[in-house]
Amino acid sequence: MDFSSKLLENAVNEMSQLPGIGKRTALRLVLHLLKQPAQQTENLATAIQQMRELVNFCSNCHNISDTALCEICASQNRNAKIVCVVEDIRDVMAIEATSQYRGHYHVLGGKISPMDGIGPHDLTINSLIQKIEEGKIEELIFALSSTMEGDTTNFYIFKQIEGFNIITTTIARGISVGDELEYADEVTLGRSIVNRIPFENSLKNS
Ligand SMILES: [Zn+2]
Repeated sequence: MDFSSKLLENAVNEMSQLPGIGKRTALRLVLHLLKQPAQQTENLATAIQQMRELVNFCSNCHNISDTALCEICASQNRNAKIVCVVEDIRDVMAIEATSQYRGHYHVLGGKISPMDGIGPHDLTINSLIQKIEEGKIEELIFALSSTMEGDTTNFYIFKQIEGFNIITTTIARGISVGDELEYADEVTLGRSIVNRIPFENSLKNS
């Protein structure tokens, strides 16, 4: 792309760093911003900058939170002994939207993926194991997407906690294999949490 303006080119280059945004889309977005009042661009820039600078993670579940302890972990109405293992905040939002779950979460921050150079130590698995060692958890619900990486991660954690006396379950899959949690409809996802099955059963099926 040949730009008549270095300023425009820089903006397009930065914008096209985002996932799913090619140079053409970036150019369209940048031109759109140019047509809007300057205040709108300023609001966007400020929101992104503040989010980046001030973002905080819950010290207990590692979900993104504006407070040291997120609302879910701080709530008296949630059962801290039941912990649902998820990949990121999108899964928490999807499960919360079902209104069917009253336990806590543990946000791993990703999935084990040797191809992408992501190992167990890049995730918050140690902190989860620690909570289990401290006897804080009675039931662990695996709710990672049923991709190869999700299965590998579930199995890794399952092996790590084998010696502990806790119940391990997985959400019943009304959702087809490979579907990400965030795309499952609320009713199906809600039902699959309520009707969760022993984790070991899911191993036999695969
Ligand atoms: Zn939390």
